[in-house]
Amino acid sequence: MAELTPMMIQYLKIHEEVPDALLFFRLGDFYEMFFDDALKASRELEIALTGRDCGLDERAPMCGVPYHAAQTYITRLVEKGYKVAICEQMEDPKEAKGIVKREIIRVISPGTISEGKLLESKKNNYLMTLYLDNNCLGVASLDVSTGDFFVTEMKGKNKEQWMAQLSDELGRLLPAEVILNPELFKDPQALGLIENNFGILASLYPEKYFNIRNGGKRIIEQFDVFALGALDLERRDHAVAAAGALLGYLDATQKRALTHIKTIRYYNSKDYMVLDLSTRRNLELTQTLRTLEKRGSLLGVLDKTVTAMGGRTLRRWVEAPLLKTEGIFERQGCVDAFYHNAPRLPEFKTILTKVYDLERLCGKLSFGSINPKDLLALKQSLGALPLIKDFIDTIDSEKLQQLFDKEDILEDIWDYIDKAIDDDAPMVLKDGHVIKTGFHQEIDEFREATDKGQDWIRDLECREKENTGIKNLKVKYNRIFGYFIEITKSNLSQVPEEYIRKQTLSNAERYFTPELKDMENKILGAQEGLLRCETEIFQKIREQLLKEIPRIQKKAREVAELDAIYSLATVAQQNHYVCPKIVDEKTIFIENGRHPVVEEMIGSDHFIGNDCTLNNDDQRMLIITGPNMAGKSTFIRQVAIITLMAQIGSFVPADAATIGVVDRIFTRVGASDDLASGQSTFMVEMTEVANILKNATDKSLVILDEIGRGTSTFDGISIAWAVVEFLHNEDNIGAKTLFATHYHELTELESLKPGIKNFSIRLKETPDGVIFLRKIISGPADQSYGIEVAKLAGFPTRVTQRAQEILGHLESGENTYRQELLVTEPPMLSGGKGSQLNFFDVTKSMTDDEEAALSTLRDLKMDEMSPIEVMNVIYQLREKI
Ligand code: ADP
Repeated sequence: MAELTPMMIQYLKIHEEVPDALLFFRLGDFYEMFFDDALKASRELEIALTGRDCGLDERAPMCGVPYHAAQTYITRLVEKGYKVAICEQMEDPKEAKGIVKREIIRVISPGTISEGKLLESKKNNYLMTLYLDNNCLGVASLDVSTGDFFVTEMKGKNKEQWMAQLSDELGRLLPAEVILNPELFKDPQALGLIENNFGILASLYPEKYFNIRNGGKRIIEQFDVFALGALDLERRDHAVAAAGALLGYLDATQKRALTHIKTIRYYNSKDYMVLDLSTRRNLELTQTLRTLEKRGSLLGVLDKTVTAMGGRTLRRWVEAPLLKTEGIFERQGCVDAFYHNAPRLPEFKTILTKVYDLERLCGKLSFGSINPKDLLALKQSLGALPLIKDFIDTIDSEKLQQLFDKEDILEDIWDYIDKAIDDDAPMVLKDGHVIKTGFHQEIDEFREATDKGQDWIRDLECREKENTGIKNLKVKYNRIFGYFIEITKSNLSQVPEEYIRKQTLSNAERYFTPELKDMENKILGAQEGLLRCETEIFQKIREQLLKEIPRIQKKAREVAELDAIYSLATVAQQNHYVCPKIVDEKTIFIENGRHPVVEEMIGSDHFIGNDCTLNNDDQRMLIITGPNMAGKSTFIRQVAIITLMAQIGSFVPADAATIGVVDRIFTRVGASDDLASGQSTFMVEMTEVANILKNATDKSLVILDEIGRGTSTFDGISIAWAVVEFLHNEDNIGAKTLFATHYHELTELESLKPGIKNFSIRLKETPDGVIFLRKIISGPADQSYGIEVAKLAGFPTRVTQRAQEILGHLESGENTYRQELLVTEPPMLSGGKGSQLNFFDVTKSMTDDEEAALSTLRDLKMDEMSPIEVMNVIYQLREKI
């Protein structure tokens, strides 16, 4: 470093504090980046790369952005997954002796943004810390913008177990950024899961920050309690280590108060229905498989929330359905109460439209970034609370009354803001007129002084016009020259002697007088005083309101839940859903059920409803056969989605439904290539099925769509067969299962297993081909209509004819392989690969001529023949086949 300039030495030293961030180094009016950072940033931001002498032989690569436009550049970098450290000048360069003092004032990363366009309003933005020790994971997740803070622990007997739980949790919360302790960071599989499968920015945080004792102290201090027990964190060392590290990380990177982080909640993943990643994706709960958009997902249908907080709450509900009937009853009761007051729902909506994002306003309040307009938004939101209270009062539902605490509707806070902040306050404090007249004496005095001064100026203008006789004489103001009297060139002859020249313009002269100068000083002094005073008082108001954050947050949560409930009730009304009966038994009964998303897409008049009965007895597993496009997938998914909706507390798209609470829903649907992890489709499919076989219980609901298709037919059928048996048998799993399949062979299982029933989807044959009736009926499908579907899809006739021919050949061999399968144990288990038959055993369907040709060929003594003789024989043979 000896040769580097002192400033570069300072730069590199500061950069050492944040090795994994891009350092925005303040130099006058610019933030500059050097060396590797400059190369990266100039590429990502498409800004010019230059150089700067740094003391070394070669100039240091450099690029920069003007400080006033920095925010957009920072946003773009964070959006691309970078961390950006802002390093400011901590003293006035003019007054600095030697090198200007500089410090990092904040590190901005995807998980720590608290405002701005990177935050989606109806989605939480979590920063997660993970602490792995001894096969136990401490998990802490915080949304810095709202203060939502959750912790849990995941214990596994081995790595596979905690990895699976971690994957489920990442899938549920989809954090924007994850911080890991070294033990976890050095595990390539865990890191791969986070970075590759989920595409989340992961960084290492040294072990010392995961210290349980220090973490505990930091938590106690943050939440202002006597002991960890008060937060339900006693003897939860892993959770404490993770949460402590998270707070420590924020202290280090944000360097600002975290006053709005007022609650931390320990949760047990057993309180919610665990949904693995593929199930979440397959059921398209919050985003579609293809476009990854909310539109077209279940949440897309259910979300009629009005407020951002309500939107986030509903999303959380959809991501974590409940397991305990009491919890479900509670929500359902509230939804029901709103549902039965349907004509008044628009009225409630109007009230909610007045409510801004109270949670994020609390965040801004705490971070000190709240502006006067935000306080007006806060006031307007609080103003809606009495209206909400009145509305809830008129609804006859004890559950709703419990949800909204009517004792405290924050009227005092509303009053305070109303008295303090001007109704037309601007966004920027500097623009003035922030504090309401009458709130603070000094401000009023300063304001009076400036007002008086302005009046005096206006009077002066009139007076001077009269005195001089110059009609277009004007008294004006600008920031550089202050107040002056402006006289156009044509009137210069009338300028009185006592005017003192200030500035000459091309067509006018500007003057002042001693009394104008005197007033200018008074006005500017008063204005300065006013601004100083308004800033000071605004700060005091902010501090006063900071104390109220817990009360505001509590109300925000209540309003958010009411909004989510309003949304569910509105959808239930609009889409004609019914309230499902929730029972603690192992049955699912749905009458005329519909798929909420498909129904909305194709219109409810066109959707054919279907019944479904599942129990733990004679109808535990339904095997559904039928051609492609018949509606199998839609049916099995809709059963899963209806069950899930019921456990959220929502009404469901059906004429009637009784839902026995399930512990988990598993799906194995379609063939989605997991390119990121480099696994083959078949491997992915088998991994997913393995996960189901390991984790499903007799309280689970399993949805299987076409398993075993990624391998040869016999392999596939054998695997599917064994899976069906294992899921069905009570001494193995005994889960409720819906299985859609092409393999007709599997329908034979109905006669072998007591809990299996065959179903198919009714079709109608017409001279022009088949028509899908979409109605589920008892019994297997007669045949596979694949070729019919190919015809409908516009296959050339020659191709469908040929397919028909091949089908004929194959079917003639069918008995053999079907018999092979009908032995009590499928071939895969008894004989492995060796017992497979050659599917294309062509000799079975040969004509006599063809067989004769084959035998001639086999006996041909080519060694004794000339090439031309061989050619001739081959020509003859070809004639025969
Ligand atoms: P499969 O799984 O049998 O190949 P899908 O479930 O994918 O068939 O259904 C194919 C299409 O049929 C769906 O995209 C949907 O538009 C329509 N469909 C499915 N079920 C119904 C239904 N019950 N009523 C109306 N249309 C349906």
